Amino acid sequence: MRAVALHEDVIVFVSDVWQTTCTAVRGDDEGFVIDSPVYPEELRALPEVLEQAEFPVSGLLATHGDWDHLLGRLAFPGAALGAGESTVARLSSELGQPQRRLRAFDEEHYVPERPPLGLGSLQALPVPGRLEVGTGGGTGSAGSDPGAGATPARELELMPADGHTGDGTAYWLPWARVLVCGDYLSPVEIPMITASAGGSPSAYRATLARLSPLVGRAEWVVPGHGAPLSSRRAGEILREDDRYLAELERDATTARPPASRGGTVTQKRIHDDNVTSLTPA
Ligand SMILES: [Zn+2]
Repeated sequence: MRAVALHEDVIVFVSDVWQTTCTAVRGDDEGFVIDSPVYPEELRALPEVLEQAEFPVSGLLATHGDWDHLLGRLAFPGAALGAGESTVARLSSELGQPQRRLRAFDEEHYVPERPPLGLGSLQALPVPGRLEVGTGGGTGSAGSDPGAGATPARELELMPADGHTGDGTAYWLPWARVLVCGDYLSPVEIPMITASAGGSPSAYRATLARLSPLVGRAEWVVPGHGAPLSSRRAGEILREDDRYLAELERDATTARPPASRGGTVTQKRIHDDNVTSLTPA
């Protein structure tokens, strides 16, 4: 697992599998961890690394309900997990699925037994919405008026990010100019439309259109998979992906995956799955 400090209040961890990212963000006395790394030793290292860096962890957040982004409670069993309303709705309708997928992954890769994943009682966050960090409010605290002389509250801005799946939330950290977008704008993975979980090219393109102005303003963009990106590189990927999705919408059978990532066996399989799920039988 790699760790990259993007800002004095933002550290990103990149897992050794699928380059799944985990973003720690702090206000002064509070902090959140968005998404998670995957391997047990990566999850074990997280609390110690964050403690040394003086990043408090008062709550966990997720960009979407795919299991590999939901493992934070294995590192911080006492912390509450919050996610956008769409993700909480999806997880309540697919009870036990993240646990089953995690077990299947561990069996396939001979990962030694780990404690069972309990998601706890999920906190549904309104999206679009804001989440304060650093005034002792905790997960789910709505914006409040800081009294005269108080340090201005730092807020995460939440916006809908669906299309990869039917659920999803992107987090914009305005004071750090960091965008944590979930499974979009990946430098290592082509757009994946998980139709079985409600994904669609049109929703995906609408999300890209919503993210675009923030990509332009960002210092860093943190994709769900792959190292953090400069604004410029994220903008290039956004245009490339939008072209591919437009082709998928027009006629999936003639769409060509983005040239910068489409070459590997896995990316070809993702493309084939996209085409199959979008082609009427
Ligand atoms: Zn993912």
